[in-house]
Amino acid sequence: MIHLLVSVKQVPDTTNIRIDPETGSLIRKGVPAILNPYDAHAVAAAAEWKKKLNGKLTVITMGPPAAEESLKECVEMGADRAILISDRKFAGSDTLATSYVLAEAIKAIDKEDPVDLIFFGKQAIDGDTAQVGPGAAIRLGIPLITYAVEIKEINLEERYVLVIRKTERGHEVIKATLPALLTAEKSIAEIPYASLPDLINSLRYQPENWTAEEPFPYDPSQIGLKGSPTWVAQTGTPEAHEPAETISVGEKGLTGTVEEVLKDMFANKSVASIWEAIK
Ligand SMILES: Cc1cc2nc3c(=O)[nH]c(=O)nc-3n(C[C@H](O)[C@H](O)[C@H](O)COP(=O)(O)OP(=O)(O)OC[C@H]3O[C@@H](n4cnc5c(N)ncnc54)[C@H](O)[C@@H]3O)c2cc1C
Repeated sequence: MIHLLVSVKQVPDTTNIRIDPETGSLIRKGVPAILNPYDAHAVAAAAEWKKKLNGKLTVITMGPPAAEESLKECVEMGADRAILISDRKFAGSDTLATSYVLAEAIKAIDKEDPVDLIFFGKQAIDGDTAQVGPGAAIRLGIPLITYAVEIKEINLEERYVLVIRKTERGHEVIKATLPALLTAEKSIAEIPYASLPDLINSLRYQPENWTAEEPFPYDPSQIGLKGSPTWVAQTGTPEAHEPAETISVGEKGLTGTVEEVLKDMFANKSVASIWEAIK
């Protein structure tokens, strides 16, 4: 039987995002919260494989009590167990502290019920760093597959997973030993309509509550502001640049046209000023 785990984040619905003009930070108050879209697709993929291989699906989140709603949404999609890791002591956690909290929780779950494949979203649509999944994989010491677009095969006998991942130039197929962690693109699975039993289950389901002390104590120096070496020095909107000039390649061909452009740019200029421009 396979045990799949998805780490999900509740995020503000960024179509409604507002920035505080004074502090430059995100105004979360009054902004509707949603399940991070990449995570929703990861849950859908995990639920598909849970059905195919007759397994179990656990979801976890670190967040405020309201994040419980996102966990219930995951139960609606087929999760069997949902854990909310919530404590004021976690407030102010950056990606280093967040990945520590999640990795420790995964280790605890794995101890009682070994996990085969772990899903994270490619990125959260609010923080947008795409650091938490890779950070957790390193802390767990297991293979990491980022930008996963499709799971081709999960082989429990031979303990491997075959995943197609997106690269800058196309796609590549990765075979990784289990347990492994992947970060999911939206194409990993379509979000299905909830089945009636899952819908009813989600209405009754109460996620488990884990804190900074229970069921195990976290190292206080690695959580919250204390465990977060990142600081936001400044935020702002990048300046809009003038649109670039388009130069058509004429009769002189590409090399001739580039030579002409360089001549125009650097005619009558000293070597020092050209060097300065290139730098
Ligand atoms: C100094 C500092 C203080 C901060 N204080 C706060 C704060 O008080 N409250 C706050 O909400 N944010 C706070 N943040 C933001 C917080 O660090 C990030 O939201 C968080 O670490 C996740 O990073 P990300 O959003 O870039 O996720 P990404 O790395 O882009 O997310 C990738 C994937 O990781 C998983 N993931 C990410 N976060 C979680 C989570 N919490 N639970 C489960 N899975 C997750 C999801 O699968 C997600 O798709 C703070 C950031 C800094 C730098």
